Amino acid sequence: MKEFDLIERFFERRGRQRKDVIVGIGDDCAILKVPDNKRLAITTDTLVENVHFLAHTPPRSVAYKAVAVNLSDLAAMGAEPAWISLSITLPDTDEAWLESFSEGLYELLEYYSVDLIGGDTVKGPLSLTITAQGFIPENCEIRRSGAKPGDWIYVSGTLGDAGAGLEIAKQGLENLNESQDYLVNRHFSPTPRVMLGNALRRVASSCIDVSDGTLADLQHILERSDVGARVHIGRLPLSDELVDVVGIDDAVNHALTSGDDYELLFTVSEEQRGQLETILGNCDVQATCIGQITGQKQKIDLRLGDMPFSLPKDAGFEHFSG
Ligand SMILES: [Mg+2]
Repeated sequence: MKEFDLIERFFERRGRQRKDVIVGIGDDCAILKVPDNKRLAITTDTLVENVHFLAHTPPRSVAYKAVAVNLSDLAAMGAEPAWISLSITLPDTDEAWLESFSEGLYELLEYYSVDLIGGDTVKGPLSLTITAQGFIPENCEIRRSGAKPGDWIYVSGTLGDAGAGLEIAKQGLENLNESQDYLVNRHFSPTPRVMLGNALRRVASSCIDVSDGTLADLQHILERSDVGARVHIGRLPLSDELVDVVGIDDAVNHALTSGDDYELLFTVSEEQRGQLETILGNCDVQATCIGQITGQKQKIDLRLGDMPFSLPKDAGFEHFSG
């Protein structure tokens, strides 16, 4: 199959959903209209087979996750997604693979009314790069740099599921029980918190999406904001499925150090807490307060009750526990 046929057949077949795409796929460039009072947010992520996803990951999941992680970055700044472009490197043109990939891609694009506006296809080892673009009203972006001592630290959803799901998926996808299946699904199909991210504009003082792990991503906020944090281990939101499969100790380790959950980690001042409760009700999302920002610059103070808590050395994050 020629490149042109491939793009037409698998990536253009659904047509356009958006009126702000003046020229979409099929010309040398896309031509797009940005609303007058908004700013453009742009993010890009590359996923490489055997590096970012396991070989033989279902193609539907590869596509779904590639879109999800980009939308998650937009959500973390409060941007509303609009368009993506896709550059894909394929070892061959396996039509069944592409059909399934296309299904996963459009599942999220259609849900969020995002248009695929262009891209490229190349022959080579499997990898894909997505660039996502979205809108933010002027001066409304939620940066990593706005956390202040006294602000409360929140996280959406539950933590650690995707990391445990990856461990399970490495062992194979046969004969999984219900809890294992749930965790694997959290790894393959994370939910980008788009509605929550948009609702947190003007409410959250800082925000990041959990891609590298809760402590690592919290550290990014601390560095940018030049503050510290106290985190209460007993308040970490853990799914019943995670505790069921790995036990409470490993559940805590996953929650603190595994990546790929794509939940939002954000800070809210005392004055904005009431507003946050309203938002959480409207978005139908659970968020849990796990601690508070401190003035101890860039230091994370882990607590179990009133006692200091240290991660086991083999968790690989001694840096944060000391
Ligand atoms: Mg991010």
